[in-house]
Amino acid sequence: MEREGILVVISGFAGVGKGTIVKGLIAGYDNYALSVSMTTRQPREGEVEGQSYFFVTKEEFEKKIEENGLIEHACYVGNYYGTPRAYVEDMLAKGKDVILEIEIQGARNIKKQYPDAVLIFVCPPSATELKNRLVGRGTETPDVVEKRMRRAVEESEGIFEYDYIVVNDEVDKAIAVTHNIIETMHSAPKRNRAFVTSIQNELEDIAKGE
Ligand code: 5GP
Repeated sequence: MEREGILVVISGFAGVGKGTIVKGLIAGYDNYALSVSMTTRQPREGEVEGQSYFFVTKEEFEKKIEENGLIEHACYVGNYYGTPRAYVEDMLAKGKDVILEIEIQGARNIKKQYPDAVLIFVCPPSATELKNRLVGRGTETPDVVEKRMRRAVEESEGIFEYDYIVVNDEVDKAIAVTHNIIETMHSAPKRNRAFVTSIQNELEDIAKGE
């Protein structure tokens, strides 16, 4: 039985560990493909062009929008972020579950265009824990930490727009829960139309022959 690829949106507050969950999914299972976003933000230490992001100028980003080369884009804390179209469409056609690690405006946009997409929001066990993780990460200035915490307040208002929440308390558990959600989605009849139709046709043939 061939599987249809599912578009999986994973969002969550900065510092919640969604990147670690996504890495765990990619490393642990072979059904996933990770979309690499385009951004105008400066690379952080250790980030690799083409793996972490495609780092581009504002002009290059705007050109990509004009060419309809992004399936969604958003502005987050002063920078543009967007999902390149070609890779997503290609991987879905190959039956892969394509992961987009994007923020809430992008998630809303995706749900409008792809109503069958699954939207997952990763939550910290508590807000205090989130602040501690963000400060402990040490990659952001206090000013950016503050901006990201303020942004988290806004984002928390959108959680009910998501299909599922995953609490990242223990990372291995969070990875397993996320994977189970996606596996369960694959069992929906609407995602297995060809299989269901073939069973129905076969049943009719057998019934007629009796
Ligand atoms: P960061 O700068 O920490 O890498 O990412 C900031 C936020 O932008 C995160 O919430 C991240 O998930 C989101 N993001 C990354 N890529 C995209 C994208 O292509 N589109 C949208 N809408 N958000 C993105």
